[in-house]
Formats: sequence, C-alpha cells, structure tokens
Amino acid sequence: MKDLKELTLEELKEELIAMGEKPFRAAQIYSWMHEKLATDPDEMTNLSVALRERLKTEYAYTVLKTAEVQTSRIDGTKKYLFELPDGNYVESVRMEYHHGTSVCVSSQVGCRMGCRFCASTLGGLVRSLTAAEILEQIYCIERDNNERISSVVIMGIGEPMDNYDEVVRFVRMITDEKGVNLSGRNITISSCGLVPMIKKLAEEGLKVTLALSLHAVTDEKRKEIMPVANKYSIAELMDAVDYFFDKTGRRVTFEYALIAGVNDTDRDVNGLAGLAGPRKCHVNLIPVNPVTERGLKEPDRTSVLNFKNKLEKKGINATIRRELGRDIDGACGQLRRRHSDPAV
Ligand code: SF4
Repeated sequence: MKDLKELTLEELKEELIAMGEKPFRAAQIYSWMHEKLATDPDEMTNLSVALRERLKTEYAYTVLKTAEVQTSRIDGTKKYLFELPDGNYVESVRMEYHHGTSVCVSSQVGCRMGCRFCASTLGGLVRSLTAAEILEQIYCIERDNNERISSVVIMGIGEPMDNYDEVVRFVRMITDEKGVNLSGRNITISSCGLVPMIKKLAEEGLKVTLALSLHAVTDEKRKEIMPVANKYSIAELMDAVDYFFDKTGRRVTFEYALIAGVNDTDRDVNGLAGLAGPRKCHVNLIPVNPVTERGLKEPDRTSVLNFKNKLEKKGINATIRRELGRDIDGACGQLRRRHSDPAV
C-alpha cells in the first residue's frame, strides 16, 4: 500500500487522476499533510467524506507515536523517542538556538557502520526509514511545540548515505516550496564517509551542507574506531569532499569526536589542520559521549579547549559542539537502547 506522506505533489496528482478525482485535490491533501500537519485524513475537511474514506482504505498514512520525551533542565533540549508504525523505535532531538529551533532526526533503525564510539550501532541495523517517517519526526515535534522548525540535521540514529534514496526524497520534500519550504542551506546531512554516495549526493542539485564524520586523521587510527575506513581511505574521502565542493559550492564540515588518549594529541591537531586548512573546511569538535560498553573516555574540558586553540592557531575555523541536554540520555542511540533493554 502506498503511503500518502511519501508522495511528492506531482506523484499525488497522478494518484488522484488515477482515482478519477480532480488534480487540484492533490494540492489540498498536500497542504493538509505538510502545512497543517494533519494526523488523519479525517481532518481534511475540504475533501468529501467519500474521498477521505478512499484515502484511508487505499493508502497508508504514516504518523509516529511519541513513546517518551525527556526535557533538559539545563537548556530546554528535548529528546524524543518515537514508535514507528511497525513497533520499532527511533530518537529525535529538538534544540533551541538563538536563530531558531533545530531538529536532529534519525534515518535508520540502528546502524550497520559499527563506529566504536556510538551507541546506535550496538544492535546492528534493523531497517531504514522511509522519507515519510523522517518527515514525521519533525512534524510530531512541531505539533508538540506548536512551531515550525528552522533547521534540520540528519545526524541521529543511522548512516544517511546508507539510506540514500529515502533521505534524498525527504530533502526534496522538506525543501519543496509548496510544502514546508525549508531552505537546503538549513539542512545538514552527516556521513561517516560512504564515498560513492557522497559523490552521488553532490550531483543531486541540493544546496545542503555535508558534515563528514572524520574522527581520525590517519587511515590506521580511523580503522581502529570506524570500520568504514577499511573500505575508503582518507585520500578517497578528501577527493569526495573536493568533488562535493566543486559541484555544489558548499564547503564540507568535518566532525571530530575527541576521545581521550585516542585522537587528541598534537599529531592529530597537525593532521587535522593539514586536511581542513587547504579546503577551508570548518571543524566541529565533539567531546565523545561515553558509551559504557566500549570503555571510551571523554577528554577533560581543558584538553578540548587546548585542542581547539591549537587548531585555531593554525588558521582552522573550529567550534566545540554545544553540549546540549547533558542531563538527559545525551548520546544518540542510548534512549532507544534503554527502552529496548532496561539494563542499559
Ligand atoms: S556514528 Fe553514525 S554512522 Fe557511525 S555507527 Fe553511529 S549512527 Fe552509524
């Protein structure tokens, strides 16, 4: 059964024509779904009861259930655990910034990339999300807070480039001027470095930001913490980063999770500056969230600041990711894990 929320306006028009309905109905339905955030075709009061009934019986209509919300007492960050129609769970996070509200969404249930510092991958990949399920994470948060969000980061559970088609469909839908009309510039897609997919993304004509999870500056070190490095070398990654910039004019951001004693030495500073400097890439430092199972430690605050200062002295534009919601289940994937296994 096709999902109404998964269809672009053009595809929806074709469906309505095939149903023997007037094509303008598509714009009405589209607006109910993406502007008015209807949770049920029954809310679409400018459609006939008969058409609403047909929509309900002939199509799926993805809506997520909120299973849990945690609110940080420190900064108001809200972490949501959503139940998908098939009973699986994903997490999303709503963060407040001075320029508006940002939502971090998941793109898969679990992940098969195996990064050592990440809780989301401990149970492997269960399945990828549909574009409708990614959209709905945002819509649920918008309904809950009575707002429209201003930016999206696809950096929650999952590797977005391992769910390429649905992630690109999601971006096309959320940037559609007849729907949410979010600017591509306000969308960030993260990737642990699936080189062919990054090159493909560069050719889609989307003005999104790519955040590359680099986390180490030598192939050897990267292989220790990210299995994907066995497949693609840092040289290949940098080639993909350059290709992305050539095609889109958008500079890639390097994400760098600082792990005490693993990737926080002066050598690492030099290596990182060598990769980011010539490309004028911004570096986002993330003090790693401790994952109990993996015994990885977060560097102390002074080491993090020192690392940043040394990078800046080398002319690199670096920030430390604001540590939002440290008093709630901060590390991505932990809320879902705790929900499925209370011992965690
Ligand atoms: S960091 Fe991202 S790519 Fe790596 S295992 Fe976690 S979710 Fe997957």
